[in-house]
Amino acid sequence: YDLRNEDLKDLMELGHGNGGSVKKVEHIPTKTIMAKKIVLIDAKPSVRKQILRELHIMHDCNSPYIISFYGAFLCDPNICICMEYMDKGSLDGIYKRIGAIDIDVVGKVALAVLEGLTYLYDVHRIIHRDIKPSNILFNSQGQIKICDFGVSGELINSIADTFVGTSTYMSPERIQGAHYTVKSDVWSLGISLIELALGRFPFSESDPDDSDLSDLEGTLSPNTIGIPTKKEREQNAKKDKRKSKGVSLQGGGMMMSILELLQHIVNEPAPRLTPEGRFPWEAEDFVDSCLLKDPDARKTPKDLLKHAWIEQARASTFDLEAWASTF
Ligand code: ADP
Ligand code: MG
Repeated sequence: YDLRNEDLKDLMELGHGNGGSVKKVEHIPTKTIMAKKIVLIDAKPSVRKQILRELHIMHDCNSPYIISFYGAFLCDPNICICMEYMDKGSLDGIYKRIGAIDIDVVGKVALAVLEGLTYLYDVHRIIHRDIKPSNILFNSQGQIKICDFGVSGELINSIADTFVGTSTYMSPERIQGAHYTVKSDVWSLGISLIELALGRFPFSESDPDDSDLSDLEGTLSPNTIGIPTKKEREQNAKKDKRKSKGVSLQGGGMMMSILELLQHIVNEPAPRLTPEGRFPWEAEDFVDSCLLKDPDARKTPKDLLKHAWIEQARASTFDLEAWASTF
């Protein structure tokens, strides 16, 4: 595909995250339906060209567990990334629509994500860096694929300058400043799986005997809070100057609850698939091994592919295509 913005017809807004927005589009010359991600980049032309070069690696990422890439182009002041459209959307949208996801499906999700991560790392030495339900996509053929992985170092840098991404799937070692490894992705997978199986973000309900977290109740959903963007911080600072009381506290309060959440992730025991006995013990054990706080003790995606629960998911005859047709 030689992609040009003029050839793409907008069909529908699919959603937006911190970095930009995603639209369903049609590539008119070939009648191909695509998802177009528009990322606002705060970078010099030379850096933007570098980003495009780096995104090129995505043409070589061919796996049934990875979203296909059609191409990327500059569209001032944005970079547009065109990828395979997944008609059932992301798993966060699905569980918010239909409720907690059947543990058999969650097992298939774990299998697909581990396969995708293993492919990215073994073949391309790419670490995903942003595993979360909104980056795990599903289609009516019953396929599960991951998207939005960190192919471009320059893109990561340029976005990091304008916003700080969702930190709530971040592993304890990352919060403490260690480098990303494939094991950080495994932590994020563990948190995501609990979220899908319970139908809510695992840190969103306070533990009754944990007074530290109780004031955070209701504030910890990754979709209702976020670390303020640079722009928001600047706007908050302006507001703070105009009004010395009231609204201005919101910005500060929000920052505090994120810091407290991050502290909680570092200092408290990891969340688990609970209540005990509700899910197969293999599932509980798998999630526990993803959420080992010590990254040296945590396994890699490749090792976890041998876990009993994953082998069961692989052998399972659960029909994802039929499941997809129920919503
Ligand atoms: P985030 O992943 O943080 O939600 P994004 O900007 O990456 O933010 O994506 C916004 C939304 O667009 C996602 O939540 C997802 O539901 C939807 N989306 C992204 N990529 C695709 C795609 N290839 N096919 C269908 N929907 C997509
Ligand atoms: Mg995304």
